[in-house]
Amino acid sequence: MIHIDGAAAPDSRVERLGGLRDLLTVTAGQKISYVTDVADTPANRAAIIALARNADILFIEGAFAGRDAELARQRAHLTTIAAGEIAREANAHRVEPFHFSPRYAGEEQLLLAEVMAAFAQTMRPDLDLLDVSVSPSLFFTTPAKKPHQFGMRLE
Ligand SMILES: [Zn+2]
Repeated sequence: MIHIDGAAAPDSRVERLGGLRDLLTVTAGQKISYVTDVADTPANRAAIIALARNADILFIEGAFAGRDAELARQRAHLTTIAAGEIAREANAHRVEPFHFSPRYAGEEQLLLAEVMAAFAQTMRPDLDLLDVSVSPSLFFTTPAKKPHQFGMRLE
């Protein structure tokens, strides 16, 4: 049995738990993972991959271009390639990179392409091809969460 408290006490009542089936709709949820401001260490990779395992969408920073791996290490951020590799290893269905350093203004296409190339290296046949496209429109089509416009900046 479950006790249901109304906001106003009068209709507070006790119902059979099974009766909730008529009131609730249960659907499968989506797993959305969000990763930012992490150094690319083996321990962090393992932790992130465990966290983001089989995520429907993985938002992950790709702060530095692949060519700037040393800078990324110094600043304790991921490169685009690391982000793509982690997304692949976590078996994420879709990856949405964000938190690009402002130093790459105008180079976002390159950064996206680096993430997606690393992500798609061993593309699973059941992955929708659209998911690994580098078309930027894919990453901006969800108005509720514009990953590149969070306003986060590198110090
Ligand atoms: Zn940061």
